[in-house]
Amino acid sequence: MREWTAARPLLADMYPRIAKPAGQGTVSANLRDYEAIRRDFTWQAARVQLDGLPGGKGLNIAHEAVDRHAAGPRADRVALRWIGRDGSRRIFSYRDLRAETNRFANALRSLGVAEGDAIFVLAGRIPELYFAVLGGLKAKCVVSPLFSAFGPEPIATRLTIGAGRVLVTTEALYRRKVMPIRAQLPGLEHVILVAHAGEPSTEPPDTLAWRTLVDTKSPDFVIPPTDPEDRALLHFTSGTTGRPKGAIHVHAAVVTHHVTGLHALDLHPDDIFWCTADPGWVTGTSYGIIAPLTNGVTSVVAEAEFDAETWYGILQREHVTVWYTAPTAIRMMMKLGVDIVRRYDLSSLRFLASVGEPLNPEAVIWGQQAFGRPFHDNWWQTETGGIMIANFAAMDVKPGSMGKPLPGIDAAIVQRNADGSVAPIDQPMVEGELALKAGWPSMMRGYLHEDERYRKCFVGPWYLTGDLAMRDADGYYWFVGRADDVIKSSGHLIGPFEVESALMEHPAVAEAGVIGKPDPMAGEIVKAFVSLNPGFSPSESLRREILGHARKRLGAAVAPKEIDFSSGLPRTRSGKIMRRLLKARELGLPEGDLSTLEGSES
Ligand code: ATP
Ligand code: MG
Repeated sequence: MREWTAARPLLADMYPRIAKPAGQGTVSANLRDYEAIRRDFTWQAARVQLDGLPGGKGLNIAHEAVDRHAAGPRADRVALRWIGRDGSRRIFSYRDLRAETNRFANALRSLGVAEGDAIFVLAGRIPELYFAVLGGLKAKCVVSPLFSAFGPEPIATRLTIGAGRVLVTTEALYRRKVMPIRAQLPGLEHVILVAHAGEPSTEPPDTLAWRTLVDTKSPDFVIPPTDPEDRALLHFTSGTTGRPKGAIHVHAAVVTHHVTGLHALDLHPDDIFWCTADPGWVTGTSYGIIAPLTNGVTSVVAEAEFDAETWYGILQREHVTVWYTAPTAIRMMMKLGVDIVRRYDLSSLRFLASVGEPLNPEAVIWGQQAFGRPFHDNWWQTETGGIMIANFAAMDVKPGSMGKPLPGIDAAIVQRNADGSVAPIDQPMVEGELALKAGWPSMMRGYLHEDERYRKCFVGPWYLTGDLAMRDADGYYWFVGRADDVIKSSGHLIGPFEVESALMEHPAVAEAGVIGKPDPMAGEIVKAFVSLNPGFSPSESLRREILGHARKRLGAAVAPKEIDFSSGLPRTRSGKIMRRLLKARELGLPEGDLSTLEGSES
């Protein structure tokens, strides 16, 4: 890996740090003294922040998220504030949420659904999705939320490999997407349909109506004893690098969800928190459902898809204090400019965070301009179950860095040796694979039906992430690229992220995706696909200008040799640029699994 440290300006040196002025919540930050909390942190001690099931009967995610607050002083605090597509609102206190989730758990019991059975939820962000996930966890089922935009094939594949016995969906989604494949799914015994207000209520054959099955059940339910190692959630990865994998998580994961909510998202009891992710992606479950509830805050759930003005309206009207979103959305907001943001009163916002793919320095800085505070990037994976590396509220932000490991997380940059062992690289700013010392509670417990692949993720004490990164002398981590995406060009190893970030600095560039294109001389050359900001159109002179900018920033060896203009880049439903698809299309190769490609429905 050593060869990699090319003589070029490092992203880490290009942007000034953003210091945190007093008054931005730094003094009251949960992780004010990172070093001290990190030194004293143990997962056993963190577990004590949660209650556990009454009578010492184990640990259940839904108890920590819902019941313990419903039984205490926060019972009447708003747990979920749901905003429908049409602006309508439904409000649920912790007490309400306990009743609704209990009803669903009782409904599962009445159907004879057993502990360990798999329940899938295929729905937009409607309240019943949240009841089903949490109620399913109460009944000790394995719950798997799916993107409602999936077409029939991806739904059938996931239900089959996950052995789904129950599916909760809406009548419209059922008719369009599940009816055509129902015959292929003999294991799917029960389909529960949520009717939308105003929809005709003639359930298709072989389905059950939520209204009659769930709403009529008792609001009381006692969660059975739950071993922290009992399976709880099945989450499919985003499919950015290949066919999605099914990562298995257990109830113990709630300890990570809870403390990362405190430490990385800086949740305080009075916060109004908004995670924009869909629960079909792990972020929308770990942080769109579980972490805000275990922390007892009010969680905003917006049904509508991204629209900048709708989002600013929600931030203003709901007085959101902590906002967790993703780079794609931020880049779309940037495209529309800061002037629109200024029309809204967003003075409630205290902390802004981002996850999912690298957050370009430009985007961090734009947050500062538009909202008066930077976006705090954090890094994790479906496999890690929760945030592992983050920019914390009380810490200076170095734009382009993912931040530092959470308390309880030991991270390292490692190199793989020829004998298969791995060794940490101690020198700063040397690229290698990002590894985490195994053993935190939300670590996946397996890839469904892919034992060999799962085992290969671990070498000695380390979980190997498949991402390449560097650590600087201050302990900040810098994402370089996924191992699969790294480009080898004339002896240089080039991470797409730094090239994309440099391209994004050009005022014409809204978004960039960079790949390695095979070349007989160089091995690979760097090729970029860029989409343009409003007011710019593709031309030869613009291409030359962007190339010139990249050369100046990165040096000729690292700058792209080719730039194609593209009206939009292919991305996953969780918002990640699919470089493998850019590459396959460029080379005329098979496109591979496209189940998670945005806009590819049915
Ligand atoms: P697949 O594993 O199916 O290819 P995926 O890796 O995109 O898909 P996720 O688990 O949703 O599926 O995403 C985790 C990956 O996203 C990380 O391994 C990393 O590559 C990328 N990622 C997430 N957050 C960040 C971040 N803050 N900076 C850089 N990369 C990030
Ligand atoms: Mg992955």
